[in-house]
Formats: sequence, C-alpha cells, structure tokens
Amino acid sequence: MPVNTEEYLRIRDMLTSMDVTLVAVSKTKPVSDIEALYALGQRDFGENYVQELLEKQAALPADIRWHFIGHLQRNKVKYIAPFVHLIHGVDSLKLLQTIDRQGAVLGRKIGCLLQMHIAFEETKFGLDRQELTELLSGPDGGRRLSHAAIRGLMGMASFSDDKEMVRNEFRTLKSTFDAVRTDFFSDDSSFDTLSMGMSGDYAIAMEEGSNMVRIGSLLFGARG
Ligand SMILES: *Cc1c(COP(=O)(O)O)cnc(C)c1O
Repeated sequence: MPVNTEEYLRIRDMLTSMDVTLVAVSKTKPVSDIEALYALGQRDFGENYVQELLEKQAALPADIRWHFIGHLQRNKVKYIAPFVHLIHGVDSLKLLQTIDRQGAVLGRKIGCLLQMHIAFEETKFGLDRQELTELLSGPDGGRRLSHAAIRGLMGMASFSDDKEMVRNEFRTLKSTFDAVRTDFFSDDSSFDTLSMGMSGDYAIAMEEGSNMVRIGSLLFGARG
C-alpha cells in the first residue's frame, strides 16, 4: 500500500492550525515511505524498535527528528542516545537514570516523556499516578537529572470502540499532566508536551488537550 499523501496533507494542515505536533509513526515501513513524507516537509518520525531505528537513521537525512515510542530496554539506550529527539516511553526511574548517564557521556540533553498507564487493559506499559509522584519527588528525583530532560507525559488509551471510555482515559491523563506541571515544573517551561492520540483516537485526544499525536496506519497503511 502506498503512502497516503492526501490524508497526510489533510491531517498535517489541521494539526498545524491547532498547534499540535504530528509524529508520523513509520515502524515496519520502508525508508522510501519515510522519504515520501519527508519530501512533503514532514520531519518528526516515530519508531518502536531500536535496530530498525538505527538502520533508518543511518539511511535518511540528518534533520529528521526521531521519536522513540516503543518500550526501551536500558541496555539499548546507548545506541539511540546520540541522535534521538524524544523518548516517549520512559516508565521507570532506572531507565531515566540510564538515559541521563548516556546524555552526560555525550554532553547532550535527551528529551523524555514519562509514560502513564491510563488504559483499562492490564497489558499496557506505564506508570500509575502514585509511581509518577514517587519518581518525581524521590531524593534523586527524576526532575533533577541534568541530561535526561522530562518534557511531558505520554499515554495510550484502551484499544476499544467505547469512545467515552477512551475520552475519559485521555481526560485523566490531561489532568495528571496539568497537576504535575503545577506541582513539579512550575519553574520549567520545557515541560510542555502531552503525547496522546493514534490513528483511531487522535481526534478525541486533541479534544481532550493533546498537543502531540502519533499516527501510523492512517498515513502509511495498515501494518502487516
Ligand atoms: C504503533 C504505535 C502508534 C501508531 O499507531 P497507529 O494506530 O498505526 O496510528 C502510536 N503510538 C505507539 C506507542 C505505537 O506503538
């Protein structure tokens, strides 16, 4: 299936008018698909697998902003640390500390989003509210790390046709985001990103206050 450039332009122009960042999720898709959107001006791309990301990063233009949106193992951080723009799935202090150490080695600040568990389903990764508070307020609180910079929160709603449930999950994440910003980041304007919404639910996510959506199959077609 070819890249749906018409849909891309439609979504992009709508998001731009609402100040929402579009991350084009290109996992499992070939480099040529990424090039097709790059040619139209897209620069933010999301990938889930370290090895795949490394291969694509090496083959594609250096001004692409790569978002790592999958589950990241600590022993793999070093591979993506030199170039990754934003790591969306940070769900432990240990992972955050590993990112911080790699950032320090490289002398670069690495943007991170803390992943919250908002879905009804048990299988999704992420922190609950209590774990988030502990991570931020502990003695070596994640907030104070100098090279892993917490830029906001990320979450995935339930994979469900129940729109009200999905809406409520996004609403909960937005209220957590607002509370955390007030309680922990009132002096740090770089905590400003709320990554929520995918192909099936991005419109609801935006109505509930998302300012970054991660869209794959609507742009690139279903994954095999
Ligand atoms: C695959 C993936 C997406 C994109 O999903 P689509 O339904 O294809 O838009 C977004 N976020 C995460 C974390 C993903 O793993």
